[in-house]
Amino acid sequence: MNEIHRIDLPRIVVVGRRVLKSLGEICQELGHERVLVVTGKRTYKIAGEKAQDILRESGLRAEVTFVTEADMETVERVKAESEAMAADAVIGVGGGRTIDIAKLSAAKSGTFFVSVPTTASHDGIASSLASVKGLGRPYSVKARAPIAVVADSRIIAEAPYRFTASGCGDIISKAVAVLDWRLAHETNGEYYGDYAGSLALMSSSLVMESAHQIRDRLEEGYRTLLEALVSCGVAMSIAGSSRPCSGSEHLFSHALDMIAPRPALHGEQCGVGTIMMAKLHGLDWRSIRESLRVIGAPTTARELGIGRGVIVKALVKAREIRPERYTILNRVNLTEEEAEALAEGCGVI
Ligand SMILES: [Zn+2]
Repeated sequence: MNEIHRIDLPRIVVVGRRVLKSLGEICQELGHERVLVVTGKRTYKIAGEKAQDILRESGLRAEVTFVTEADMETVERVKAESEAMAADAVIGVGGGRTIDIAKLSAAKSGTFFVSVPTTASHDGIASSLASVKGLGRPYSVKARAPIAVVADSRIIAEAPYRFTASGCGDIISKAVAVLDWRLAHETNGEYYGDYAGSLALMSSSLVMESAHQIRDRLEEGYRTLLEALVSCGVAMSIAGSSRPCSGSEHLFSHALDMIAPRPALHGEQCGVGTIMMAKLHGLDWRSIRESLRVIGAPTTARELGIGRGVIVKALVKAREIRPERYTILNRVNLTEEEAEALAEGCGVI
């Protein structure tokens, strides 16, 4: 193999209570002098303003810009602002959308990206991939791995619990994603990386084992989830693609995003998809469903707030979303009747 396999990983990761206060020191340590904080109007009050104060107290020039939409127009605007102040880093302080905008803007302006998540809703907090409207596809694209991740479990614990449960769904889904990846390897000779695959699988198992601690909002549970989210970001960086973290269950979620009148959260949809795809793979889908149930994540169409017909359509449509991504759905080629029977068999509809 002459091909160069490049792996970009975060250099500093801090997870725990009140770690936001170390943001200034971390940026100093990385040699940053001017930074652009990207945040939402609401997250500004929760963490953005504090982040700016901490950065300024550490002697950095820290400007703030607000995002409301996760679209390419916003990415271009943030990129221009970052270039105008010659920022060394773009710091995303907020939920998934804000993080994605900051990540993509940093990639486009060639600056560092620092991730400060305020929710644990999906695995984008430490990955190099971003999903933004206007890219012409419903899934994520390569952006830039964070140079640092500062995940304050106290802030994340104060976010609505629904986001945390969604993040668990996104992590548990790796149990299926890795099997889809192995299947593509066996069927088409696609590259498979055991290290990245194992890391994603381990994150999935650990979150399932910690279901009760997460449900009880224990610090230990939050820590396990945050470490799992970071580990999955790392697994994607090692693999060089989202393969270890996104398989047929993600395609089902992307299909829902396209056809459902009101889609649910990404991780919620992936969790429900995981139950059904696990059954197709011959995995113990009941224990996956039980973990999601204990955590308080949706396990049915009703809990997702999505109609029965839409679920069936999404199951059939999923394999068309990303033709190059071979999964169990290419092997079984579900008809509408089979899709309906699958969803019924798992109690989803
Ligand atoms: Zn995901």
